[in-house]
Amino acid sequence: EFGEISIKDIDQVAKTSFPLCMRHLFEKVKEDHHLKHGGRMQLGLFLKGVGLKLDDALAFWKAEFAPKVSAERFDKEYAYNIRHNYGREGKRTDYTPYSCQKIISVTPGIGDHHGCPYRHFSEENLRAALVRMGLSSRAVEDVMDKVHNRHYQLACTLTFEAVHGSSCDAGINHPNQYFIDSQRVLQ
Ligand code: SF4
Repeated sequence: EFGEISIKDIDQVAKTSFPLCMRHLFEKVKEDHHLKHGGRMQLGLFLKGVGLKLDDALAFWKAEFAPKVSAERFDKEYAYNIRHNYGREGKRTDYTPYSCQKIISVTPGIGDHHGCPYRHFSEENLRAALVRMGLSSRAVEDVMDKVHNRHYQLACTLTFEAVHGSSCDAGINHPNQYFIDSQRVLQ
């Protein structure tokens, strides 16, 4: 069902096709060269679903963490978990990417960047993020209206429609579905 994506295309597709929850994590790891466990899980499994192969995933996280984490420490502290997510360690379960419902229901702590921005961002931060995604002020108000009524996935659906200029009748219920629908519209 999922295609393949190589490391050199990630920056491009992150801009065009990642839902806000994943854009945020992606920007944060580039900015901070680190992500806490919850963020690594949420983004890591999403990237796996997008089609990033294990070797590319290891290379991606290693390179992003490099300014703060030595190669040796990375191999010791982080590589296991990434291989684990790909079913190469432990019980060898092939872990699936998180659904919107799961992401919306978490409670991020201080310094965490995972979760759903429609649910977990302050109003000010959410508005700024939507403007950065290119939404008009009218579209921002429509999205905020859904957020105030706690319809987070509908807020995400309206964002998708505004960004792509195309309707999304099924609604958004999974970040990887957002990605696939986006790629479909763009191709
Ligand atoms: Fe991500 Fe789903 Fe929230 Fe959209 S509604 S930002 S895809 S968790």
